[in-house]
Amino acid sequence: MADKQKNRVLVLDASYDDRLLADAMDKIFQEFPMDLEGKNVLVKPNILAGEPPEKGVTTHPSLVRAIVNKLQQQGAKVMVGDNPGVFGYGRSEKAAITSGIKDAAGDCFVKLSRTPVRQKLSNRNVDHVTIAGDVLSADLVINLPKLKTHGLTFYTGAVKNTFGYVVGGDKMRTHSLAPTPVKFAEALVDIYAIRPPELNIMDAVTAMEGNGPHHGKLRELGKILASPNGVCLDAVAVHMIGRQPESIPHLKIAAQRGLGTIDISKIDLNTKIVPLRDFKMPATFVTGMVGIFLNRILSKQMSCLPVVVEEKCQKCGLCVKHCPVGAMKIKKDKCPSADKNICISCYCCQEMCPEDAIILKGRLLNFIRRSAH
Ligand code: SF4
Ligand code: SF4
Repeated sequence: MADKQKNRVLVLDASYDDRLLADAMDKIFQEFPMDLEGKNVLVKPNILAGEPPEKGVTTHPSLVRAIVNKLQQQGAKVMVGDNPGVFGYGRSEKAAITSGIKDAAGDCFVKLSRTPVRQKLSNRNVDHVTIAGDVLSADLVINLPKLKTHGLTFYTGAVKNTFGYVVGGDKMRTHSLAPTPVKFAEALVDIYAIRPPELNIMDAVTAMEGNGPHHGKLRELGKILASPNGVCLDAVAVHMIGRQPESIPHLKIAAQRGLGTIDISKIDLNTKIVPLRDFKMPATFVTGMVGIFLNRILSKQMSCLPVVVEEKCQKCGLCVKHCPVGAMKIKKDKCPSADKNICISCYCCQEMCPEDAIILKGRLLNFIRRSAH
């Protein structure tokens, strides 16, 4: 990839129509030509959980199908896989089946956790992570994130999607060792830096706003974004949804580390972007930003606490299983609840709850409310 293309971001009008997606793939590879003949290419979609495509939680299978077709036409040996936020491979495969991604990938679908590799990290809190060996051995990695909001990181796109390099329970270990938004953002950037993808193609046809990444509201944006630089691509996506890229901690850190610019004026765009004024960020966004600003003094108080809505809870225990620090506890025949003294506000429980039964409430507001009575 020529250096002059590093800051280039392509924004294309798109839908999930197969023919239009094939046209979009042609345009992307004309813009960012790659020698694909005989190359091992890992395609990394976002398979957060086992949800069907219409829920908008995962990268749309039509986009996966379009990229697989394009790569195979160019003679590449394609692998498609992710490590969704569930434990064993059996469940990962189930998530890929439900999301339609296994069918879209066909014979190219791989168990991304099949060759775990211990990888050193130069991070002040997390000294290593276990990642999928295919990430390191692939000749090229093509990242297929979906544009969504996120309780902990506020926004999830290209950089955040590489957290799926990390295998199974090691994600929980990372959360527990990097328990604040800034520490987690630093770890995220270090994981991205292990192997920045050669190409990023974002599904922003149907995005998710509000309380993403699992239970937010769908928002039709009708776009696909592509860039060899995931940080630049994310900056453009955040600009598109009406926010400053600097407001997303992991993008700010990635830019500081020289992984890509988030200054929109320095990004080479094919079109003018009119930022949305009404795209809803997660409930954690404002308090989280203030918490980061106040840092050591009030950051914990400014974060949110997960609260289980008893009418919706099916007592499945998934939130308990996914809590990295053992804060979410369940008693026999009761709904679980979070211990506020242990909870690190990572929101994995909310992300994994299949019933949308967990809401986030500000600790400080709760404290003030309780103190007033
Ligand atoms: S994951 Fe959701 S439904 Fe399951 S126990 Fe937790 S709150 Fe209840
Ligand atoms: S209770 Fe939920 S938000 Fe709190 S640490 Fe556990 S998974 Fe994270």
